[in-house]
Amino acid sequence: MEGSHLCHHGNCIVPAHSTYEDAAANRDRESCHSTAQEMRALGLSVPKGCASHSTRPCLLQVGLELHLLIFANKMPAGVTDRL
Ligand SMILES: [Zn+2]
Ligand SMILES: [Zn+2]
Repeated sequence: MEGSHLCHHGNCIVPAHSTYEDAAANRDRESCHSTAQEMRALGLSVPKGCASHSTRPCLLQVGLELHLLIFANKMPAGVTDRL
């Protein structure tokens, strides 16, 4: 079992953004995040959650935000003003 970040931020500590599951399911989530990034780059609207994981969908929109990198002291100056 592994702890998966549904928001795809490895430093995130929000309980609602993570789940326990096997390693294969965790790896499957990587493609969800890159798909969301590609959709955003193409100007398409990104769904709130993915449809690939029946139990806990990936948080696609949340994953595209810089929401919790502050915990790793990686937040660029000025970004915290928008949170
Ligand atoms: Zn998160
Ligand atoms: Zn997913």
